[in-house]
Formats: sequence, C-alpha cells, structure tokens
Amino acid sequence: MIDYYDISGCYILRPWSYSIWDQIRSFLSPQFKKLGVKDGYFPIFVSKAALEREKTHIADFAPEVAWVTRSGGAALAEHIAVRPTSETAMYPAYARWIQSHRDLPYKLNQWNNVVRWEFKQPQPFLRSREFLWQEGHTAFRTKEEAGEEVLQILDLYARIYEELLAIPVIKGRKTEKEKFAGADYTTTVEAYVPASGRAIQGATSHHLGQNFSKMFEIVYDDAETQEKNYVYQNSWGITTRTIGVMVLVHGDDKGLVLPPRIAEIQAVVVPCGVTAASTADERKALIDSCKALVDDLLAAGIRAEGDYRDNYSPGWKFNHWELKGVPVRVELGPKDMANGQVVAVQRFSGDKMTLKRDVAGKEIVALLERTHGQMFDKATKDRDARLSEVTKWEDFTAALEKKHILLAPFCGEISCEDAIKNDSAR
Ligand code: AMP
Repeated sequence: MIDYYDISGCYILRPWSYSIWDQIRSFLSPQFKKLGVKDGYFPIFVSKAALEREKTHIADFAPEVAWVTRSGGAALAEHIAVRPTSETAMYPAYARWIQSHRDLPYKLNQWNNVVRWEFKQPQPFLRSREFLWQEGHTAFRTKEEAGEEVLQILDLYARIYEELLAIPVIKGRKTEKEKFAGADYTTTVEAYVPASGRAIQGATSHHLGQNFSKMFEIVYDDAETQEKNYVYQNSWGITTRTIGVMVLVHGDDKGLVLPPRIAEIQAVVVPCGVTAASTADERKALIDSCKALVDDLLAAGIRAEGDYRDNYSPGWKFNHWELKGVPVRVELGPKDMANGQVVAVQRFSGDKMTLKRDVAGKEIVALLERTHGQMFDKATKDRDARLSEVTKWEDFTAALEKKHILLAPFCGEISCEDAIKNDSAR
C-alpha cells in the first residue's frame, strides 16, 4: 500500500491504497454537491499575517506549522507557512466574496494535501506529516443552519466508515480541550481498534461560530435591518487516516482484508491445474476460459482481474492476493471447465464454495455484498465486546485497563476533563 520515503512521517501512497482514497472521494463528491457544496482550490502557502489572525487557532497549530524561509540561496523577507488546514488561507477571500445575505449560504470544499509537522511517532495513514483530505468551509446566516450542516456532514463521514469501509463508528462531540482550535464545538466519528484497544478520531465536523468571521471580517448586510452581521461558519474534513483505520480493524495474520466496496480488485481469477504434462493447447484453453470468466465478472459490475503470470505457481498467487486482501479469489482449472463450475474463496473467512460457471457473476456479486455485511458485523461484535458502560470511578479505570472504550456520564466541564485525564493516567 505504501512505500517509505526519506523524510520522516512522509509516505508514498501506491495505487493499492490510492485507489481506496479514490473510492472515498467518488462517494463523497456527489454527496457534497447535493448539499450545494462546490469545489475550489486555494494555494498551499499561507502568509504569516493571515495564519496568525485567529489567536486560539494559531496557538494550537503553531508547533506543527512548517515554514518556507528561503528561496534558493536567499532568505525570504517574510516567512511563508505551509497550510496545516486552510481556514486562514480561505477566509480573507470569503470576506471579499460574502457581502450580502444573497451570498449565503456559501459552501466550498477542496480536495488537497496539508502538512502538520507532528512530533508524536508518525504512522502510515494514521499520523503522517503530509496527508490528503478534503476540507469543507461553509458560511451561514444563522447558527441553526450551520448546526444542521455540521450533523449532515458527520452523517456522511459515518457512512464512509460504515457503508464503504465496513467499520462501525460512534458519533459524538469532542471535549472543550480536544475540540478544533478556534471552533465553538467539534463533532467526531470515533472508531475502535481492537488490536490497540484504543479509539481513534475518524473524521471531524466543526462549528466555528463567529470566531473566524469576527477575525476576518466576514460580514453581510441583513436584508431587513441593513445591519452588518457576522456569518456563522463550519469546517469539516476526512483524511487518508480512513485507510489506516481500515487496515487495523480488518487485517488478520495473513495480511490485509479489504472491504469489497473499496477494493481496487474485488475478484481475482487464478488459472489452476496446469501440470508439466499439460499441452500448449490445454494451457491456452484454460487461459481463454479464465479471460472469458473475467469478462463475465466485469459485465456483472465486479472489478475483476486475471492473474496469468506464468512464472508463479497458483499457490504463490493465492498467498499474494491474500496478503493484498482481495475479497474473492476465483480458481478455475481444467476439471472445473469440464464440470461447468468455478471455485470461489472468500478472503474474509477463508470459506471455499463451488459455483456454477454460468451464474458465477451473479453469485459473486451476492458474495461481495454479503461480505460487506459480515465484515461490518464482525467489527461491530469485536467493538461491542470491549465497550463498557460505567457509572462509578472504580469501574472506569478497571475497564480502561482492559482496553475497553467507555460510556460514562460526563458534565463536559474542563475541570472534570482534566481530572479524568489525570486520574486515569497510568
Ligand atoms: P482537524 O482539522 O484537526 O479536525 O483534523 C481533521 C481530521 O484529520 C481528524 O479528525 C483526523 O481524523 C485526521 N487527522 C489529524 N491529523 C492527522 C494526521 N497527522 N494524519 C492523518 N490524518 C490526520
């Protein structure tokens, strides 16, 4: 999925992972359009003046901002920041574009990269210094309209996890200290990784209130009163972290297990049963038969490929595609040809089934659909087995020790947040 790179925290996304990002984008893009969000693109660089305009925002991001300080041999008079997120790059333009109530709501999204020079241990996909995401930035007349959109977007993010990646998530609201710097409040979808026993923030949808509009003077004339009003804003983003969560939740000892809806190859056809004694004609007949099968699978709407490499044995290929997580392997040999059948093996369970050749396409479509449900159910079961509801402090730390995620009453006060953090620390 990735290759390493000679800059720490930066990774090369190879087609096997980039295609997953493509699927996520293909799902989200039309959904955003339905909500009236248009795509645009802002520069990767942010001026120091713009970046530092919203004080709480910059205070939080400052340690992670990468700066351009030289051009060739010459020092730049004014250092230029590389965007860690684009509020401060976009909002000076919003102040020009939004003048009247007729300009609202204003909804813009960009698919881009951002750079956060994180000092925590970098991890491919989960925490990288450069990552791909989309960031939506919207402006409304009222807090209510903005609040409604925050949740609509959060629903879409939950659907990415649940409907594409087969991962259950819990929707919720971040605490005061964990919310996005400069936001009124942050909503989140949280996934659970059984292998580490930890929750992970899957994507966030923020209500920024009027904090940025006041700093950037994003105002509109009210139709009735002619008064100038500050807009209410949201920003929201989902990143390539999604791919890392998917790897961790579904992977097993044999490697990746790709959920069918995002797998670049959903079914791989492997010719089998060729022996040293097989004639050239027999080999050709088998390959032709495999190619016809791939065509049938493609016609059924399955992303299918044949593995016709003649320098690897079927067994080697089985391991190879298992490691890569292809949801279904289809084996076809001379005996299967004679019997009008194929053998399908489900990566998720290892289950082997014999299918009639003439309905293989239809059967494999159903198998892929079933696989999504089975993977989602397993992930949900694994999570729920480690989800505890607690109401007493003694139970809280005990459940944490067992690496559970907890549902507990919480007043939301910062003092309580601090106390919980302190008292539950090892
Ligand atoms: P934020 O703009 O801080 O709300 O971040 C948006 C989303 O990006 C978070 O909800 C995380 O899921 C994800 N994210 C944050 N930092 C990273 C990172 N270093 N690498 C990949 N994804 C990240």
